[in-house]
Amino acid sequence: MSARGRITRISGAVVEAECEGPVALGEVADVGAQGLLGEVIALRGRTATAQVYEETEGLSPGDPFLARGAPLTVELGPGLLGNVFDGVQRPLQRLAALEGDFLARGVKTEALDRDRLWGFRPLLKEGDAAAAGTAVGVVAETPSLEHRILVPPGVSGAVERIAAEGPARVADVVAVVGGTEVRLFHTWRVRVPRPVRAWLPPAVPMITGQRVLDTLFPLPLGGSAGMPGGFGTGKTVLQHQLCKWADADVIVYVACGERGNEITHMLRDLPRLTDPRTGRPLSERTVIVANTSNMPVAARESSIFTAVTIAEYYRDMGCRVAVLADSTSRWAEALREISGRLGQMPAEEGYPPDLPSRLAAFYERAGRVETLEGKEGAVTLISAISPPGGDLAEPVTRHTQSFTRTFWTLDKDLAAARSFPAIGIQASWGDVPEALERWWTEHAGPSWPRLRREALSLLAEAAQLEAAARLLGPDSLPERQRFILGAAVLLQESFLQQNAFDAREARDEPGRQLALLRALLHFRDSGLRAVERGVPEVEVLAWPVVGKLRRARSELSAEEIAALEREIEGGG
Ligand code: ADP
Repeated sequence: MSARGRITRISGAVVEAECEGPVALGEVADVGAQGLLGEVIALRGRTATAQVYEETEGLSPGDPFLARGAPLTVELGPGLLGNVFDGVQRPLQRLAALEGDFLARGVKTEALDRDRLWGFRPLLKEGDAAAAGTAVGVVAETPSLEHRILVPPGVSGAVERIAAEGPARVADVVAVVGGTEVRLFHTWRVRVPRPVRAWLPPAVPMITGQRVLDTLFPLPLGGSAGMPGGFGTGKTVLQHQLCKWADADVIVYVACGERGNEITHMLRDLPRLTDPRTGRPLSERTVIVANTSNMPVAARESSIFTAVTIAEYYRDMGCRVAVLADSTSRWAEALREISGRLGQMPAEEGYPPDLPSRLAAFYERAGRVETLEGKEGAVTLISAISPPGGDLAEPVTRHTQSFTRTFWTLDKDLAAARSFPAIGIQASWGDVPEALERWWTEHAGPSWPRLRREALSLLAEAAQLEAAARLLGPDSLPERQRFILGAAVLLQESFLQQNAFDAREARDEPGRQLALLRALLHFRDSGLRAVERGVPEVEVLAWPVVGKLRRARSELSAEEIAALEREIEGGG
């Protein structure tokens, strides 16, 4: 039921209106004579407060306001992949084509192209029973993704009608199930998680092919990770690496609040990347949700929920979906601005007091699940954070830490030393459930948990020694400790560093990652024994095998690396 009203106050993206008739929180509103898109975010008596997803310039008190009686939704169906949307799912490419280069306000355009024809192939026949979440048929959305047309949640019954194989548009009815028409697309509320049959515990890592991440700070499929990093720390390169190599059928990239030119670069670069799995453009399995810093802040607020809803939809088809949000700091700035306009009492650093619960509402949508259809799917969330001044104690970083169990901190000193990916070891972590240990043993070889622990403790010890050496001078350290430092540098340069632009090592297999780590730690052990026997540390660090270990990451196979271990055993 809709309710009419009049605008009484306008403050940036926030508008107040006096309404005649009942209004509910979360309702979509047409604001002003142009019918700008808004959403009711607060209610007090007959006064509704709405955030407006378009520029509010030119609105004035007395202008009309219409609460539409329906919540903010997204359209889910074929045609999402390869597309670019804003935070409320307006298709940017098509709107640009329709409207020129800028978005005209109040323009209503459907998210999914209504004219495009898709080849529908039914999977059910009349009389079959179909529960919510089962597929009535499929559409080849891209050459590599078969899009399952799902019975929307809440609908079930006998298939009363089903379309024959042939072309269909998104709004065409392809089936009637339990009296309800099923089209190629359906809508879903942005702020409500889509239902699943069961939530599954973490069982497998999301392999990224990046040694430092996979081996030291793993992210389970269906987990979530925070990725703080300042300008120039290699965030963009790492995100591209993840888009290319991470174990995901679909990527949803949220470009949130960054400057327009950065997003334009990204929009230009991403489709040019080749999908290493298929040799086809990476954009074919990517959906982009973009809200630049000069676009309305409210649409930035909704962008991450729009993105995660799209991700859940592909998850429900049995896909592994990764959401890359860049950045949740800019998203939180949008919250801060809206909350300020609402006159809310600010909490830490001006952010609204509900910042933690708003972040939680995003991260809780990650997970590995059994879908309503009984398939396995996952949404994995990776969120870039841009902490002002690199301060990891600021509220967005700190709260993100409490909702994510994996943290990849990009370190500006490592980046300055051009040690990429610049993951700071001391400020990063990854939870290691037992299931992940089993996965590594089965898929990559024995001893991953032990080697991982040893690598982390070698790096931690070296960090302490370095601090001491800085204070007292490197020569003050005893021979043994100097060797530890040397072995840690070797680990850093031959294992943790990984050149994204060298095709031979842009992605590393888990088996080879583990072989290389094992060989390097084996060298540390044998070398240490030699030093303890009285061999000078410089001599051990000059063993011929050291040169081979240095080249191994780009030149040797897992078997060749294993052979180096025998050489190490023989005294390098
Ligand atoms: P940010 O997005 O954090 O500002 P970029 O991702 O653009 O930083 O990285 C800055 C530069 O660092 C890149 O142009 C590239 O030269 C270098 N770089 C970053 N990561 C890697 C990597 N894994 N391998 C090689 N070079 C890298």
